[in-house]
Amino acid sequence: MRICRYEKNRIGLVRGDRVHDVGHVVERLGTFGYPLPRHDLLVAHLDEIAVDLARFVQRDAGVPIDSVRLKSPVANPGKIIAAPVNYRKHFDEAAADPVTFPTHHVRSIADTGLFLKATSSVVGPGAGITRRFPDRRTDHEVELAVVIGRRCGFVPESEALAVIAGYCIGLDMTLRGSEERSFRKSPDGYTVLGPWLVTADELGDASALDMTLRVNGEIRQKANTRDLIFDIPRLVSLASAFYTLEPGDVILTGTPEGVGEVVSGDRITASIDGIGVLETHVH
Ligand code: MN
Repeated sequence: MRICRYEKNRIGLVRGDRVHDVGHVVERLGTFGYPLPRHDLLVAHLDEIAVDLARFVQRDAGVPIDSVRLKSPVANPGKIIAAPVNYRKHFDEAAADPVTFPTHHVRSIADTGLFLKATSSVVGPGAGITRRFPDRRTDHEVELAVVIGRRCGFVPESEALAVIAGYCIGLDMTLRGSEERSFRKSPDGYTVLGPWLVTADELGDASALDMTLRVNGEIRQKANTRDLIFDIPRLVSLASAFYTLEPGDVILTGTPEGVGEVVSGDRITASIDGIGVLETHVH
């Protein structure tokens, strides 16, 4: 099942290349008063919503998916947890270029651990990416994004897949420079999530997915999730050992080699097997 958010705040069920408005399924979630929960309401109720959606009978043709403005499929992620250098070849390219990648940032993930990005950096593909400082270099990083489905902590690797609601594509946009990693990766719009959430049962095995990122049609990044240094269960286990994970929390699993600069006017096209294609623009 593929669930998207689009236009102002519509919930869509994606079937083939068309999207059907299924906003009625979130009505039961009700309204909430202060203080608001820390999790994402739709993801927290995804199991019930999926039962409704499985019965959904489309009464119209829907609209072409490429005609709508897609938002982040997770509206209110409580945390964006991200893996630093987590592909061997990206480690090698970073280590070979200390001007672009300061050496104190190029350490093994086992030494560095994970880092957090501001949730205010999250946008959908339809928003595009506005470079915060046009005189500084902003780079693309394509990543498999894991969306947590239930509250959990200290999850053993052997049980990690059971806490995952689904997956989407993530762009971990990065301002180059000497500052702290999370500071440079958290400007508004520097976390693009989309094009939709693919539920874990639909995607199946995420441990060997091809991914590519193109800029203006030219391939910049091409890799497979089998080359992750810390695989998905290990990342979930590590993150949950440090933080209680909540429905809608996102784990960006790290980018492969080939990161590079984007400039105003560029079109980014990222694809991951079993998920789809995320297209966005740079301003
Ligand atoms: Mn990254």
